[in-house]
Amino acid sequence: MSDSVTVVWDDALLGYTMGGDHPLHPIRLDLTMRLADALGVLASDRLQVLRPTPADAATLQLVHDPAYLEAVRRAPEHPDVGHGLGTADNPIFAGMYDAAALITGGSVLAAEQVHSGRAQHAVNISGGLHHAMADRASGFCVFNDAAIAIRWLLDRGYERIAYVDIDVHHGDGVQAAFYEDPRVLTVSIHQTPLTLFPGTGFPEETGDPDEALGSAVNLALPNGTDDSGWLRAFHAVVPSVVRAFAPQILVTQCGCDAHHEDPLADLALTVDGQRASYRALHDLAHEVSDGRWIALGGGGYGLVRCVPRAWTHLIAEVSGSRLEPATEIPESWREDVVRRGLRARPPTHMTEGGYTGFARWDPFTESRVDRAISRTRTAAFPYFGLDPDDPRD
Ligand SMILES: [Zn+2]
Ligand SMILES: [Zn+2]
Repeated sequence: MSDSVTVVWDDALLGYTMGGDHPLHPIRLDLTMRLADALGVLASDRLQVLRPTPADAATLQLVHDPAYLEAVRRAPEHPDVGHGLGTADNPIFAGMYDAAALITGGSVLAAEQVHSGRAQHAVNISGGLHHAMADRASGFCVFNDAAIAIRWLLDRGYERIAYVDIDVHHGDGVQAAFYEDPRVLTVSIHQTPLTLFPGTGFPEETGDPDEALGSAVNLALPNGTDDSGWLRAFHAVVPSVVRAFAPQILVTQCGCDAHHEDPLADLALTVDGQRASYRALHDLAHEVSDGRWIALGGGGYGLVRCVPRAWTHLIAEVSGSRLEPATEIPESWREDVVRRGLRARPPTHMTEGGYTGFARWDPFTESRVDRAISRTRTAAFPYFGLDPDDPRD
C-alpha cells in the first residue's frame, strides 16, 4: 500500500451555504484550507489534493429514499416539500442538491482512494454530515456522506467497518443507517443527549436487539468535560471496542464542536485536546486496520478561533507531519480574517496551552466523567467479550 495521503478539496465545496446567520458557515472551511496552506501543511510530498465530483443518484440512494432526493432537488422552487427542509436548522438554498452531492462525492472519493490503496489515509473536512436521515434533512445535514461512503465500501466487500464519531453531537444518522447491520460498528462520543441536540446517543443504545447487538457504542459526557476528562473517557472505551471489533477500515467523523468556545455546545476542549484526539484516531487506524483511515469533518461553529486550527492540526496529523503546538499563525492569515470583517479575534498560535495529560480510567473513582464511562462500559463491553470493570480491557 502507498503511504500517500489524499486531501479532498475544491473551492466549489464552499457552495454548501445555509445563509449568512446560519452557524454552519462555509467560511470555516475556507479559513481552514488557507491556514493549512499558509503553514505549509498542504506542501508535504506525501500529500495530494484531489477535487471531487458530485455523487450520482445511485450513490445517494445507497442511503437516501428516492422521494427525499426528489424533494431536495425541488426544494428551491417548492419550499413546502417537507422532509425536514425549509426549517431554521435546514434552510433551503439555491443549488442545495448539487452542493450536498459534491460533499458526498468527496467522501466517496476519500473512501475510494483508501480502498484502492492509492492513499493510506484520506481526509474530507467538508464531509461528516452525520445527522441526515434516509428520508429527511436534520441538524444542518442534507445528505449523509459518512453513511453513504460506508455503504459504498460495504458494496466492495468489506465485512467489518468501524465508524468513530467525536463530534459533540451524537452521530444519530450514521447510527440509524447501520443499527441493524453487524458489519458496521458505530461509536459516538458526545455531550449527553439530556442537554443537547439530537437527544439520542444514550449508552443503552447498543444496536438492534434481533440483528446486531453491540453494533453501536455511545459515550455520553457531562457538560463541561475538558481535555483530560475527554481523553480519559475516549481511552477508556474507544480503543477497546474498536480493537475487539477488528475493523478492516476506519472511518472517523472529526467534528470539532466539542471546543470550549463553540457557540452551540457545552464541552470544554481546547485545540490541544482536539489535536490529541486526532493523534489517538491516527494511532488506532495503524493499530487496527493496517492504516486504512478515512477522516471526515463535521460540526464546528467557532469559525475563526476553533475550526481552522483544529482541522489544520487534523490535516497535518493525517499527512504524518504534525505541527508543533507553539507554531505561530502567519500574519497574512490573521490580516485576512480582519479584512473579511469577522468579529472574532484571530488567534496567534496553534495552541491554547491546553493540558492533554490524563489518568487512565479505573473503576474506583467517582467523577461525573467516570460515571459516564462506567455506564457505557457496562452497557456495551459484554458484547465485545470485554469486562466492564477491568481497567485492562
Ligand atoms: Zn456537531
Ligand atoms: Zn499514518
